[in-house]
Amino acid sequence: MLRGIRYGEADRILHLYSRQRGRIGAIAKGVRKPRSRFGGRLEPFFRLDLVLHEGRGDLFTVTGVTTVDGYPRLRSCGPALSVGARACDAVLRLLDAAEPNPPAYNLLCRYLALLDDPAEPEAARLEVALSFRVKLALAAGFAPELASCARCGEAEHLAGFSGAAGGVVCASCEAGSFPLSEEAHRFMVESLARPLAEAPAAEPRALRQVERAVGETLEHHAHVQLRSAA
Ligand SMILES: [Zn+2]
Repeated sequence: MLRGIRYGEADRILHLYSRQRGRIGAIAKGVRKPRSRFGGRLEPFFRLDLVLHEGRGDLFTVTGVTTVDGYPRLRSCGPALSVGARACDAVLRLLDAAEPNPPAYNLLCRYLALLDDPAEPEAARLEVALSFRVKLALAAGFAPELASCARCGEAEHLAGFSGAAGGVVCASCEAGSFPLSEEAHRFMVESLARPLAEAPAAEPRALRQVERAVGETLEHHAHVQLRSAA
């Protein structure tokens, strides 16, 4: 569950990202009543096994719910909660189609599990949040071009990044780009090659460039603006 919105006297509208149907919306009737049979399970971050009734409108109706994982440690840790909420928000904005996207679904589940893992106390750091973002862009079909100049294909002298071009650009195509350090470039390449738990390390300056590169790519090509990653 990505987000919940109070509705009417006791209902809640749920924004969900599902394995089988992608982005869907559902209504949970009576969920805010003290003795609701749904209990406190229809909350953001919860991974749920839902039984949904498909009516005539856009919204499904929740008729049954089993908790797969409530991520209790994530929800009791401020930094994890903050980056987790931003990750859910990024999925909400970027993956708005009602069609399955298993890589995106699995990526979000892995990130929430990592943030909940007591053996991973560093999971809420910015490097992991940005690795998640680079991988999410790939899963959504908007990975930046990192191997060669996004304008002319030149493989050397890559010194800038252009969101409009959708990737790194060479010295002769750098108009409208911003400077991208080797460290920021490498961070994105390695993020795509490694599991989320092994996010590469980088200096704050490089991380700011990575966030800008992914952000501008998504603005130009997916027409979405993400909140800051951490
Ligand atoms: Zn070029």
